[in-house]
Amino acid sequence: MTAYSRVAASGDEPMIDVRALRKSFGDLEVLRNINFTVEPGGVVALIGPSGSGKSTLLRCINLLVIPDDGAIRVGETAFSFGQGARVPRAKALAAFRARTGMVFQSFNLFGHLTVLENIIEAPMQVRKMSRDQAEKLAMAQLEKVGLADRARQMPNTLSGGQKQRVAIARALAMEPEVMLFDEATSALDPELVGEVLATMKELAREGMTMVIVTHEIAFAREVADRVVFMRDGVVVEDGPARQVIDTPREEATRNFLSHFH
Ligand code: ADP
Ligand code: MG
Repeated sequence: MTAYSRVAASGDEPMIDVRALRKSFGDLEVLRNINFTVEPGGVVALIGPSGSGKSTLLRCINLLVIPDDGAIRVGETAFSFGQGARVPRAKALAAFRARTGMVFQSFNLFGHLTVLENIIEAPMQVRKMSRDQAEKLAMAQLEKVGLADRARQMPNTLSGGQKQRVAIARALAMEPEVMLFDEATSALDPELVGEVLATMKELAREGMTMVIVTHEIAFAREVADRVVFMRDGVVVEDGPARQVIDTPREEATRNFLSHFH
């Protein structure tokens, strides 16, 4: 079994393909045999109680966390884990992460850099772009999230919603194949949630392949094609967004959703 391989591109294949994924932290089995796919341009909302393994699954998809067992493919890049699999090399990991954009609850902007400098950093360092090229790209991404006029400001002069839109622009500047959102609006004041959700909705409309961990059930119902409900490290239910949210098949999904209305 090889840890890193190119897979022939095909129109019918999922953009994200997670197979038999397992991850433990010490004795704690956090992901137990997760199978999960996202079609090209598909939007999947990942929901479930705190501690169910949602963040760990997202982190595995971009290899911030290395799984114990199973396989992950994003686009044409595939990795296998477990017995006999080689540990991916740092260079392969970095290249892979660059193509899987991640947006966190806590923004994670560099406080000592301007908005523009935050965005050009990775394109210059990882993609080896010139400053000129990177700035053009960064400005285009800032336009897209409606913050071109904030390019020269420091992050601490922005609202939480603006910071998160900068974080989205920064991820997009790597021209990722997929975008992963981990509770991107959970740290925001309620009046700032809408602008970030609107940015995510626009990305979805443009055809970005997305996995969104969220407690915004109405947003998931509206924007996601599919909803995946996780509990205790397993996928309990996976189906069309409206079906899972309006008429869940599983008792556990019903119980979880009952807390939201
Ligand atoms: P969720 O995002 O659904 O709330 P997480 O994936 O963050 O769930 O966490 C699942 C479980 O794994 C929790 O019990 C959490 O404490 C544990 N966990 C997550 N990351 C680590 C880690 N790096 N080391 C040890 N335990 C972890
Ligand atoms: Mg989490």
